[in-house]
Amino acid sequence: MKVLETIAEFRRIRTTLPEPLGFVPTMGYLHEGHLSLVRRARAENASVAVSIFVNPTQFSPSEDLDSYPRDMEGDLSLLKKENVDVVFAPPADEMYPPVFSSCVEVDKLTRRLEGASRPGHFTGVTTVVTKLFNIVQPTRVYFGQKDAQQAIVIKKMVADLDMNLEVVVLPTVREEDGLALSSRNSYLNHDERQAAPVLYRALMLAQGFWSQGERDAGKLRNQMAKLIGKEPLATIDYISISDNDTLEELKEIKPPALVSLAVKIGKTRLIDNVVLE
Ligand code: AMP
Repeated sequence: MKVLETIAEFRRIRTTLPEPLGFVPTMGYLHEGHLSLVRRARAENASVAVSIFVNPTQFSPSEDLDSYPRDMEGDLSLLKKENVDVVFAPPADEMYPPVFSSCVEVDKLTRRLEGASRPGHFTGVTTVVTKLFNIVQPTRVYFGQKDAQQAIVIKKMVADLDMNLEVVVLPTVREEDGLALSSRNSYLNHDERQAAPVLYRALMLAQGFWSQGERDAGKLRNQMAKLIGKEPLATIDYISISDNDTLEELKEIKPPALVSLAVKIGKTRLIDNVVLE
């Protein structure tokens, strides 16, 4: 497994990698969620590239860029076991030299949900992902449903800008108690970890009402808020039931609908979602 830190080195190696190439972009501190993407990429392609880059432009100044968990050695040993061909792990100034002055922006979809709570976040994501796609030149790229809006925004960008690659979105990997795996779970102390599955319980509550025939989105949001309100360590950022393509909030649920939420457990902001089919 080659580990490369510069764009020039990656470009040199890229010409030797057999097609098709599967690519998994990550911010590192890898867990089974990331590895599920790597395994699928391995199964579907002749070569596999993974990037590890904590992208500064998708964090606002008040967010957790400096404290974001990092473990390059551990990550590389996990990726080696998965038979990854090449890891691209550039330093920040390789991706963003001081003269950098461009961005890629997807409108509309990015104003909602995470985009409303984290202004500028998706411009950082779409800009770095475009750069990574240009560097890696993948045939297929792999993203997690865990970040549902991110996957939708990237699909839109790929379609709008005629990027010649296939976007594959894979299911959320969870702990036994339903908590979605996330690098940020490492911030949780014991009590917060006990409280964190309340996100999943709220999603399951919504799914249950939906299965029993409830179509009033407002009722589902209220029931979810009531459940989360009982958890003293939880603070709701948003609870949304939206159209799974446009992300517009729904009054009456029509499938496929995306039930998504962002909740702070203590100081740690967690997100999760399910799709009502
Ligand atoms: P990150 O390192 O958080 O930027 O995530 C890299 C990729 O892994 C993104 O496409 C995420 O959606 C995906 N991912 C993160 N957590 C999970 C999970 N629990 N299950 C499946 N995919 C995930």
